[in-house]
Order: sequence, then C-alpha cells, then structure tokens
Amino acid sequence: MTSTVPDPRRLASTVAACRELIETRFADEIERGAAAMLLDDGTIHTGTAPDVVNPAVELCHEVEPLTAAFRLGRTVVASVCLAREAPGRFLVLSPCGVCRERLAAHGPNVVVAVPTRADPAEPTWLPLHRVLPHYWAAIFDDVPWR
Ligand SMILES: [Zn+2]
Repeated sequence: MTSTVPDPRRLASTVAACRELIETRFADEIERGAAAMLLDDGTIHTGTAPDVVNPAVELCHEVEPLTAAFRLGRTVVASVCLAREAPGRFLVLSPCGVCRERLAAHGPNVVVAVPTRADPAEPTWLPLHRVLPHYWAAIFDDVPWR
C-alpha cells in the first residue's frame, strides 16, 4: 500500500481554511468547530455542523466538504476537523468512526489530521489506513483498499 502525502503547504492551507471558517462564522462564540478538506484538484472546501433541536440528528462538520467533493466528482485528499477551545486555540479532532467510514470511499491514502501527543492543538497527518487499520471492507475485491 503506497502513501502519497500531499504538499505540506496545501495541508497547512487546509488547516488555515478550517480555522478561518470558525473565526468568521462564529466570531462571537468560542466553542465552535468546522472541517476542511483538500480535494484532488487542489481546492479546499470547508463546512460546519448546523444547529439542530434534536441532538440525534446532528451532523459532523465533515459532511459539507465531503458532499461537496461528491457533487463535484472529486476525490478527497486530506481532511481536518478543528474545535475552538479558547480564542486562537483550536483542538484537532480525529475523524469519528462514521467519518472514517465516509472517507474510506476515497481510499486508504486519504490523510486525516490527528492531534499530536504533545499538544492536542497541533495537527499531524496520518493516512486513513493507519487510523483504520482493520477496515471491514478491505476483504472485498471491489473495494479500493489494498
Ligand atoms: Zn464524524
């Protein structure tokens, strides 16, 4: 399994776009989050979870950029999700199990931001196959996982 790490500058831009969305959309609210994804054409798409009355129907921040990639017929190359803990400080949220499943459609080499052990606000990047090492569908020949 080969792993192609995207350009570090584009990954940094993806994180910056995610922070910018939080800063602009939620300028007056501290504890808010967003996600950003880098697509194979170099574009960056962002999203955030809308407020809902019933928490059972909440969406992950990743849903908007992921559906944008599908709408555009593009492949997701990298994904980051951030949650603002304090002004100027953004915790890195590793993708949840559902989002890992959603991202798996883009193959095992999509890189996802995870927090470093030293600082949960410092992103590092891992290919999806490293955060999902025993992906259930990898045994099927028509799943591009091997
Ligand atoms: Zn999720």
